[in-house]
Amino acid sequence: MRGALGGPRVLLRRLREVMAEPVSAQERLDKIVVLIAANMVAEVCSVYVLRVDGTLELYATEGLKREAVHQTVMRTDEGLVGLVASQANPINLSDAQSHPAFAYRPETGEEIYHSFLGVPILRAGNTLGVLVVQNRAHRTYSEEEVEALQTTSMVLAEMIASGELSALAKPGAEPAVHPQRSFTGVPLAEGIALGHVVLHEPRVTITNFIADDVQKELKRLEDAIATLRTDLDTLLDRGEVSDGPESREILEAYRMFAHDRGWLDRMREAVASGLTAEAAVERVQSDSRARMMRATDPYLRERLHDLDDLANRLMRQIMGVRHAPRKDQLPDNAILVARAMGPAALLDYDRTRLRGLVIEEGGPTSHVAIVARAIGIAAVSQIENVTGIVDAGDPIIVDGTTGEIYLRPPHDVENAYAERVRLRARRQAQYQALRGRPCVTKDGQPVALMINAGLLVDLPHIEETGAAGIGLFRTELQFMVAPSMPRIAEQLALYRAVLDAAGKKPVTFRTLDIGGDKVLPYMQAFEEENPALGWRAIRLGLDRPGLMRSQIRALLRAATGRALRIMFPMVAVVDEFDQGKVMVENELTHLRRHGHGLPERVEVGAMVEVPSLLFQLDELLPRVDFLSVGSNDLVQFLYAIDRGNTRVAERFDPISAPALRVFRDIVDKGNQYKKPVTLCGELASKPIGALALVALGYRSLSLTPSAIGPVKAMLLDLDAAKAEALLRPLLDNNRVSMPIRKRLEEFAVAEGLQL
Ligand code: PEP
Ligand code: MG
Repeated sequence: MRGALGGPRVLLRRLREVMAEPVSAQERLDKIVVLIAANMVAEVCSVYVLRVDGTLELYATEGLKREAVHQTVMRTDEGLVGLVASQANPINLSDAQSHPAFAYRPETGEEIYHSFLGVPILRAGNTLGVLVVQNRAHRTYSEEEVEALQTTSMVLAEMIASGELSALAKPGAEPAVHPQRSFTGVPLAEGIALGHVVLHEPRVTITNFIADDVQKELKRLEDAIATLRTDLDTLLDRGEVSDGPESREILEAYRMFAHDRGWLDRMREAVASGLTAEAAVERVQSDSRARMMRATDPYLRERLHDLDDLANRLMRQIMGVRHAPRKDQLPDNAILVARAMGPAALLDYDRTRLRGLVIEEGGPTSHVAIVARAIGIAAVSQIENVTGIVDAGDPIIVDGTTGEIYLRPPHDVENAYAERVRLRARRQAQYQALRGRPCVTKDGQPVALMINAGLLVDLPHIEETGAAGIGLFRTELQFMVAPSMPRIAEQLALYRAVLDAAGKKPVTFRTLDIGGDKVLPYMQAFEEENPALGWRAIRLGLDRPGLMRSQIRALLRAATGRALRIMFPMVAVVDEFDQGKVMVENELTHLRRHGHGLPERVEVGAMVEVPSLLFQLDELLPRVDFLSVGSNDLVQFLYAIDRGNTRVAERFDPISAPALRVFRDIVDKGNQYKKPVTLCGELASKPIGALALVALGYRSLSLTPSAIGPVKAMLLDLDAAKAEALLRPLLDNNRVSMPIRKRLEEFAVAEGLQL
């Protein structure tokens, strides 16, 4: 290796001695740059530290003018040093001054140096600063030297991260180690949470970077890799892949990386250069994290994510940390931060202490989002590399309404949010006071407000909200959060628990609505071009009758001696309803024949969520006991907009003539045939949606539990006849100038309704 005196191992050993010396932070830095310069036979060695204001400050130098230390400050879009920081990549040039990004700073006296090697000082993929060596001669630094400088920069990363340098900083220009940050992601579950970060996968803290015995460290690394491979093989062979993020596909990717020579060799080289096994893993991981954060190709990002996860596993293996901290020992006001999380993992945490969730991956329809809403915590996703940015215990605010996250928030933001939380609590108390009041409009129209549910954790909401029952029980959620197909006995137990919790209040169970985006991790997935239009819900149920039959049997048995309501999702033609109903009748016959108890009464209904059904209402209505409008899917199919695609989902307003006419026609037909009609999509969960629906004649709505309070408060003040007199003519007059939503909002203001 050209130039390097004694190589990186000797340097690391010397650095360790310097780190242990009882000297000031500045003296230590000064000694470090001298050591590095000497070891690399460089005339210059400088350390730049990234500050909270986003600029880079020269903190120490050997070779440049001493007066420039703490004086030279540059932006990250300035000069070669800025480029290293912003790209988080080394830059190695034999003729730096001819590089377009070269920026000359007279106070440093660096004009005489031609060659330049700058490496980012990285920690968990985040840039903390830049370490530079320079030479007068046109010198090309070898790959080993680049590698050695990167390894050395880890020691500086630790020094910066430990906060040791903060004492050297001017106020407002501290190192950007724990900066205040804010991000905007995708809201998953409403609510505001103030609390402290708990990492779902705690980062292993490395205390020992520099190897005492390189051979021993190499063995530790090799042993850990071997165990990692065996563990992955076992997991894959057992076929026990379950819970959310760790699908078989991901485990296969892990296994591929666990045999990837490039990755393994880089870690081996890092150990050979004098790092401990754990420091070597972190060193290589930090590079790939930095790449991941800058990669734009989604496939590449995905793979780099997998590699990152694998590195975490390897790290835990080396350090002997096998398990996450005990989930029942959360601090108060815990905000969980994870790359991705399965629903079962979230349910494992102590809910009384959990306030919020922040994840890097997962959309609003993901299973973990469903569970977050069910347990009532604020949740936001798509916050890139959040697991690398936060530290356990950091103060954090999660705004599940706007998708904003504030990490280490300033006092004014914290105060503003604390005020909002108080306000929400006051409003909750007001809604709570309405709990026992029957939901009757000002002009005497009773409206049944029920809740949507699907998990055991939802059941207390019936009592808490004072709802009239469960208008939609999404049975597929039990299947979605389970690691394997729930057995009949488990289904039976859940349905019994639901009916017990509801007591005399009605519960409408929907048969499995799986397929489409509701994927079961343990069921073979089929590639479908348009899964929302594909093999799902009742289609799947009728094609694979075993599953649907056993579910119906479980429902009937759970309801022995009680009333039972069953409905089918995604019915597109009357015949599908007929077939479903025959299945119920056959199961009843089967139970009767085997001497089992029977429900006191069974009502069978259909969901109206496929537009074709709108043109078969005259055939359908005489056959059903009730209808339930699924406005989420109905609006999706009506306007041909993917409900989960944020680019288009908000493009059309369901509170406008086309959709409202559809809702009107359904309720009118229901009244004509004297069959009850409920609406159970999200539309009813917004006061303005509920206002429109009641104005159209709906007298039964099923809502997200948290919406019961606001919707009820609005309805108690509503004159339904007056709202109907406003809305119905608007739908008949097809040359409406003002948007209907706006007309309703004005009406609400004039009537003193809280929307
Ligand atoms: C709907 O489509 O409106 C509905 C209630 O069903 P889901 O949201 O479960 O598809
Ligand atoms: Mg639906």
